[in-house]
Amino acid sequence: MMPSPTIKKPFDITAIREQFPVLSREVKGRSLVYFDNAATSQKPQQVIDALVNYYTTYNANIHRGIHTLAEEATAAFEETRDAVQEFIHASAREEIIFTRGTTESINLVAYTWGRQNIKSGDEIIISTMEHHSNIVPWQILCEEKGAILRVIPINDKGELLMDEYSKLLNSRTKLVSIVHASNALGTINPVRQIIEEAHSAGAVVLVDGAQSTVHLDIDVQEMDCDFFAFSAHKLYGPTGTGILYGKKRLLESMPVFLGGGEMIREVTFAKTTYNDLPYKFEAGTPNIADVIAFKTALQFIEDTGKEKIRKHEHELLEYATKQLEEIPGLRIIGSAREKVSVISFIVDNTHPQDIGILLDNRGIAVRTGHHCAEPLMQRFGIPGTIRASFAVYNTKDEVDELAIGLHKAIKMLS
Ligand code: PMP
Repeated sequence: MMPSPTIKKPFDITAIREQFPVLSREVKGRSLVYFDNAATSQKPQQVIDALVNYYTTYNANIHRGIHTLAEEATAAFEETRDAVQEFIHASAREEIIFTRGTTESINLVAYTWGRQNIKSGDEIIISTMEHHSNIVPWQILCEEKGAILRVIPINDKGELLMDEYSKLLNSRTKLVSIVHASNALGTINPVRQIIEEAHSAGAVVLVDGAQSTVHLDIDVQEMDCDFFAFSAHKLYGPTGTGILYGKKRLLESMPVFLGGGEMIREVTFAKTTYNDLPYKFEAGTPNIADVIAFKTALQFIEDTGKEKIRKHEHELLEYATKQLEEIPGLRIIGSAREKVSVISFIVDNTHPQDIGILLDNRGIAVRTGHHCAEPLMQRFGIPGTIRASFAVYNTKDEVDELAIGLHKAIKMLS
């Protein structure tokens, strides 16, 4: 996907914010400060327009139609596949499978590759900082097959203990499924090294890219992961759409997932044969509008410039970390050397939810709770955290608002 030459320009935060209509709304009588980007990012006007444009001008089901609308919809849908392929540097468009999101992508692998390849006594390695969607599918599989789930421990900063990981790997390890960037801590994991070691042990690797894809440059070939999963809604795209990348060789060898229309080549009552990749894994009418609009979201990221976005978000993270560290009684959970722009914290003698409510009263949206990472919270001995996560459109002034809001909330609660 080429950046549009007309839009390529210096990082202009005002111009960026103007593209996101929701940012101009008020919450509880104050300007919205949206710091819940790790849960889902806001959408630029052009993504919203792409959705409206599809429904307004060429709504049709894809792949099977010969009429003009169906051809236009099919072309737009398939263009997103090409854009995704380019965005994550996959070697072939057949390696890009559209799903409902990261959760479904991981489950697809668990239900197909997992059921075909995991046997009793085999081992699957995950880490302490996994999202529930990269824990539960493997637990279900292990229970069904009599396989064993192994967990890489972490240190107090929220970094993987890589020596412990190396020790966990053995000839029974069939899969390593690891989060690239933690949604609850911000930690960026050394996936390249994890994959290399796993491959040496003969294991396949799935990388959960739900949090990393919006912040980091993703090159699945360079990373050499076997599977990579992510969700469009965390990349300024629509909800209900996600991607499973898989190496072609693996995808081809895997049994089908959902059965139905589109994933077949021929159906008789005696026997069904299956379609080629990627359609083999895309049964039924997909989320056409949202897939189409996702291309516009990727274009927004390309046009803004990933390097510039990363620099801006990193500055916000450093600025916020400094501000929050100065607040008495506040403890940051997760201080890894390499982090995406996520900052999780707790405050002495207060419940995260109470702080969250008081911040919301000032128009500041943060997430509180276990962030779908209960085992991680158990590791730190806490019920949950308050999490502020930054996106391209956030500003230092908003971080100041957060700091003021926190000071006031803590005063009220003490
Ligand atoms: N993994 C991680 C690290 C996540 O942050 C999330 C979303 N919070 C998921 C998986 C699941 O993503 P989705 O809900 O879009 O399927």
